[in-house]
Amino acid sequence: MKFTFFIFSILILSLSTVACAQTQNNNQKDTFPMQKSEAEWKKELTPEQYRILREKGTERAFTGKFWDHFEKGVYACAGCKTPLFKSDTKYNSSCGWPSYFASMEDKIEEIPDYSHGMIRTEVVCKSCGGHLGHIFNDGPPPTGVRYCINSESLVFIENKN
Ligand code: FE
Repeated sequence: MKFTFFIFSILILSLSTVACAQTQNNNQKDTFPMQKSEAEWKKELTPEQYRILREKGTERAFTGKFWDHFEKGVYACAGCKTPLFKSDTKYNSSCGWPSYFASMEDKIEEIPDYSHGMIRTEVVCKSCGGHLGHIFNDGPPPTGVRYCINSESLVFIENKN
């Protein structure tokens, strides 16, 4: 009898933990200013953009259009077109993804990410919640951080001036 109660308690405890985690995730998703249905996102984005921005996917290293791209301009969110990174903060990290040592002010939200057995910090667009990539502490001066971003999450706006 005691054992049954024990098992039952464990079950209730784990179920409430899962429910709590789900609520947290949903709340995070609901706080972004730009809200669209999954159907709307699917209509607007390419399948690869949708997989990365909305399903937290990752493109393969050295395959994206911006890992080796160094032009003058601004990189904006491919989901909502909010400018996120300036080209003068982009550097060659040799990691195979576009890398920046800084983002434009107050455009990016950092979220703890414990997926795939790793402890990382995910970065998402503060306006639409689109998944961009991760931030690491191995970047160059002056910040020492590396924004490791999927090319598919970005669109480039050229500035010839
Ligand atoms: Fe966005």
